[in-house]
Amino acid sequence: MAKLTYAERQELPDSAFVFPSRRETDGYPIPDKSHARNALARVDQYGTPKEKAAVCRAVKRKYPSIVEKHCKCRHCKLRRELNR
Ligand SMILES: [Zn+2]
Repeated sequence: MAKLTYAERQELPDSAFVFPSRRETDGYPIPDKSHARNALARVDQYGTPKEKAAVCRAVKRKYPSIVEKHCKCRHCKLRRELNR
């Protein structure tokens, strides 16, 4: 999994973060699909339900196909179960 260096993080626009106001600490950068998958996995492990929903929404806007497969928020899990 590609990890952003500090310098690369600094160069990302606010729009590349789910939480731009927290970009110095984490803010869940999603500049590409691999980071979007990583953000979904991390928020699933460490995030609050509210953060999970926010990451889900942001990733869905940029990469709908990833959310369908990789998001583990309550809403997406339920939708996958219904579609089974
Ligand atoms: Zn979701």
